[in-house]
Amino acid sequence: MRLLGAHMSIAGGVDKAIERGNSIECKTIQIFVKNNNQWSSKPIPEDEIEQFKKLQKDTGILVFAHTGYLINLASPKETVYTNSMRSMLDELERSEKLGIPFTVLHPGSSLDTPKEDGIKKIAKSINDLFNKTKGQKVKIALETTAGAGSSVGSKFSEIGKIINLIEEKSRIGVCFDTCHSFSAGYDIKSKEGYQKCWDEFEKEIGLKYLLAFHLNDSKKEFDSHKDRHEHIGKGTLGLEPFRMILNDKRFNSLPMCLETPKNPDMHEDLGNLLVLRSL
Ligand code: ZN
Ligand code: MN
Ligand code: MN
Repeated sequence: MRLLGAHMSIAGGVDKAIERGNSIECKTIQIFVKNNNQWSSKPIPEDEIEQFKKLQKDTGILVFAHTGYLINLASPKETVYTNSMRSMLDELERSEKLGIPFTVLHPGSSLDTPKEDGIKKIAKSINDLFNKTKGQKVKIALETTAGAGSSVGSKFSEIGKIINLIEEKSRIGVCFDTCHSFSAGYDIKSKEGYQKCWDEFEKEIGLKYLLAFHLNDSKKEFDSHKDRHEHIGKGTLGLEPFRMILNDKRFNSLPMCLETPKNPDMHEDLGNLLVLRSL
């Protein structure tokens, strides 16, 4: 049984996300551990943490986190950078308290500075964060990006370079987003392109670092460097790449979450999960 699921809202409390996921038979869910569009949020109450852990245990759902959207560890802007580091520390501590194994992070954007500087800055920042949270278990999963503007992580070699510079390698990993990487120029639609993509992943990063998948179809064309998610099979990716991923034995044990548009009743997730399971 594949670990399939979707991103879940934490409205009403982090524990509610598990209830939502469970109601549509998710085996895994992704959550934010705070407001994803603010630098800081109030701490999660102890009883909410307890309820989250109890539900997690009872349902057996694998829960992983995604960090806030404001964070940019490659930012040359002093204020943004300071806020990003403070916010990341809070993200790691929240996830650790909840017993979450890893949190997905957009590597960052170097803006008007060279990408190579951004890569070094991201690695140094992560090393600093791991030093400040010694003894904690929560990992950081760098997400593959579509490569809009100066964003780092659209090429596997960029992610590989960051990982090479990380001291505590047991706490670093990667989350592969199908929409982003297709937009970044990895043609996972054809059998040949799919194989080439994973050969390059193995060479530049190493498959052992792969921790999770974001399964999203794309509204935009191949190599567009645009990040617009579409329902599975309804976009430019179509069903084939998802069929290959879901039947690839190397990814048997990895959690895979949808990040596709949806309404509060989650009927879109139900439909997408049904399609994925049929593959
Ligand atoms: Zn993301
Ligand atoms: Mn994603
Ligand atoms: Mn995206």
